[in-house]
Formats: sequence, C-alpha cells, structure tokens
Amino acid sequence: MTNWILERNVATFGEMTNLPVSLRELLARHFTLNEPEVLEVIESSDGSRKYLMRLEDGVTVESVTMRDGRKATLCLSSQSGCAVGCTFCVTGVMGAGRNLRPDEIVGQYRVMLRDLEDTVERVNVVFMGMGEPLLNAQNLGDALDVLSEKLSLKRITVSTAGILPGIRWLAALPRKPKLAVSLNAPDQKRRERIMPIAARYPLHELFVALRAFPLERGRRITFEYVLIRGFNDAELDAEAVARLVSGIPSKINVIPLNEDPECFPDLRRPDGEVVDRFASRLREAGLTATIRWSRGADVAAACGQLRGRQSLAPR
Ligand code: SF4
Repeated sequence: MTNWILERNVATFGEMTNLPVSLRELLARHFTLNEPEVLEVIESSDGSRKYLMRLEDGVTVESVTMRDGRKATLCLSSQSGCAVGCTFCVTGVMGAGRNLRPDEIVGQYRVMLRDLEDTVERVNVVFMGMGEPLLNAQNLGDALDVLSEKLSLKRITVSTAGILPGIRWLAALPRKPKLAVSLNAPDQKRRERIMPIAARYPLHELFVALRAFPLERGRRITFEYVLIRGFNDAELDAEAVARLVSGIPSKINVIPLNEDPECFPDLRRPDGEVVDRFASRLREAGLTATIRWSRGADVAAACGQLRGRQSLAPR
C-alpha cells in the first residue's frame, strides 16, 4: 500500500492494480487519498519551485522544491502558521496556525514528488517550511513513519527553533531524522530579541540537551545562523558561535537574511564580504561552515513569504 502511495504516488485506490478489486472498492468506501490542492506554483530563476497549497478546511501552506542537478530537496510545512514568532520570519508575523495532520504533511511531499516525475535520482526532505515541527511532534512522528517507508531517515531533517521537550522527544525515538537547530545569535540576550521562544528555552539549557543528544554514527547537528547586518554578523560573533558549539559534531549553515522590505524594513542582509568573513572565521575555529544564499529569492521563497504576499496584497 505504501508503495502505491509513496513510490507510485497514485491518486486513487482504483489505480492500485495488484490489489483485488473488492479490496480497492472497500478502501475507496472507507478512506480517502486526499491531497492538498495546489493554488499557485512559482518557479524561480534558480529552478526552485514554490507551492501554495490549500488544505481541506481552506487553510493554506507553502512548500518548496529545490533542485540541484538530479537531486531535489523538498521543504515541507508542519503547521499553517507559527507561534514561535521569530522577528525576521513572515510566518512568525502571521502568528499561530493549526497543526497539520500527518496526511497533510505527507500530501505536500506527494504533490511535489509527482511534479518531479523521473527527473531526480535522490530526494531529501527538510521540515523548514511554515511552522515549528516540534510543536506538532505527534503528527510529525506519524508523518516520519510514513515517509521513512520510502526515504532513509538520513535524508530527512527536522529543523527546530530549540523546543526542548521536542528535542528530548526526538532524542528518545529509536530511529531519528537529522536534527537542525536555528541558532541565529551567539548569546541569550540577542537570541531572545529575534527569537522570543528563547526566553522559555534558554541557550544554556538548549546546549545541555544538544550535548546529550544521541547522534547516530557519522551524523552531525546542523546549526542554522541567519546573518543580519549589524546585529549578529561580527567576527567576534562567529568566534562566540564556535565556542558555543565546541565539542558537538556539527556544521553551521550561514544564511544571509532573505530581505523582506515590506515586513521588515529595518532588517538587512550583510554585504558579501562580511558573510565570507563570518564563515571564514568559523572555519578557522575548526568548524564546517557553508554559506547558503536563499534559493528562490525572486519568488519570495523564505517561509511564509508567498502566503504573506497574498494576504498583504490589495484586494
Ligand atoms: S523561523 Fe521557523 S520557528 Fe521561527 S517563526 Fe518562522 S516558522 Fe516559526
């Protein structure tokens, strides 16, 4: 059954031709294979595709496909808004939404995978779309169970703003996806300014949990660091980040801010040299650091921007 749904990605039970007709009819009477409805797809000049999808109660979420040759990364939403309220994030400005059900999470994957057809050999999934996945842990867990029938959990990354109960829940799973943590500032004071949730889950407690996180062999924790001009982009900040993560098998994704002048007129992306210097400083401290310029910047690909555009657009 999972093979038909995830591998063959069929839209109806009737297409599951190796099942007896009576079973297919029974399934169709009692279950649905509903998928989110695609309202809009925008393709960026860099090949990434951003989807606006409507769920059955009319709520909309965003999902993104990022291509890299024969590889694709599918970015899924776990909630229809976000209560975490990061001050640089359009989804955070929208406020809390509802938790997505497991079928709504997997549905995004199915829709985007069908569009890729046979053009990719490898697919990764990241939970970096709308919402905080670890605030929807139970449904996330069910969705991971389904997705991991098709994909190795090594190819699935759950990104969190640092929800401690959720990190402990993840740590206790017998089979774990990869973990990414949005760090974004090297100290508690500044982290709280841009990530209010940090007041509830302070940096020192977060790092106690991360140091205790049972990493499988060869795995690392990814730290995401959105670089904001004049706020967290100094070389001294890079050195402080290096001290903070020292001893944790990790890599740092330095993400120059995806500017949004309408929502955040005061937040700017640092110049290229500043970004390079920041990443170099991390590397000099012995860390693996990559710079991730936003994909799909020309189509508002940061989380929530497309839906935000719709709700901000004059009617
Ligand atoms: S960055 Fe992530 S956790 Fe923060 S408000 Fe946006 S969706 Fe929520």
